[in-house]
Amino acid sequence: MRIILLGPPGSGKGTQAQLLVQRYGIVQLSTGEMLRAAVAAGTPVGLKAKEIMASGGLVPDDVVVGIISDRIDQPDAKNGFILDGFPRTVPQAEALDELLKRKHLKLDAVIELRVNESALLSRVETRVAQMRERGEEVRLDDTPEVLTKRLASYRSQTEPLIHYYSERRKLSTIDGMMAIDEVTRAIHRQLLALGAVEPKTHARSAAKAAPAKKAKAGKKLAKTPPKAAKKPAKSAKTAKKATKKAAKGAKKPTKKTAKKAAQKTAKKALKKGAKKAAKKVTKKRTKR
Ligand code: AMP
Repeated sequence: MRIILLGPPGSGKGTQAQLLVQRYGIVQLSTGEMLRAAVAAGTPVGLKAKEIMASGGLVPDDVVVGIISDRIDQPDAKNGFILDGFPRTVPQAEALDELLKRKHLKLDAVIELRVNESALLSRVETRVAQMRERGEEVRLDDTPEVLTKRLASYRSQTEPLIHYYSERRKLSTIDGMMAIDEVTRAIHRQLLALGAVEPKTHARSAAKAAPAKKAKAGKKLAKTPPKAAKKPAKSAKTAKKATKKAAKGAKKPTKKTAKKAAQKTAKKALKKGAKKAAKKVTKKRTKR
């Protein structure tokens, strides 16, 4: 599986990428991480990137495209990868298309994490506080001033990619303001829908990820009593009858009213059944 995570700084791309790595056994290719490693190691690429990164600018396209192209060729990327922080410009996306084509690889999806911009600053502040707590070195570009610049560059250079990939029918947008695990589930659902992951291997989430079935069940409710009514055999039957009656009796029922009526009668029937069952138990007990 090969996917791109798209979103502004602080949108949770890194967090989600790590969770997806654990889940699907693929690798995370983060150009930001690779560049930071290059800076730390003092390589020629690192020396080139250091100043640009510290100021919140973008490293030249050819540099990052070269890094990604080499990284995709590594054996651990054969199983699939998540691109995090790349591509960041339309020329980078075009270069990626080109290099994937050359390597006979297909991109499965581009997942955009959409977030409320006003929340980004506080998210980055939280990230910095957590890193400090863990005794980790804080990124030089995680300051309010640099973040403002990174956001501006996201808007002007990276956001056009939303259009680029939606035109190519690759884009899926997910609400990145949800809780972390909800975002992960939403991504998984999307990947399932696109056929990028096997439903069998992730049965638990696959069961949760069946909105179509849920919708069908909702429709069924107008015709059949709710599941719970099946418990005491008698009340289930009464509930079914009552539901039919309700459906018949209603004047030109709309789907909504029929559904409501059926639910109401089914509930009543259930209550009746439950009361009867309770009476029986009390009788038995008094007999004893
Ligand atoms: P990130 O960790 O993705 O926020 O990236 C940190 C910094 O690395 C960015 O602000 C850029 O300076 C640089 N960078 C990372 N990825 C790219 C890219 N695809 N193109 C250009 N610059 C990048």
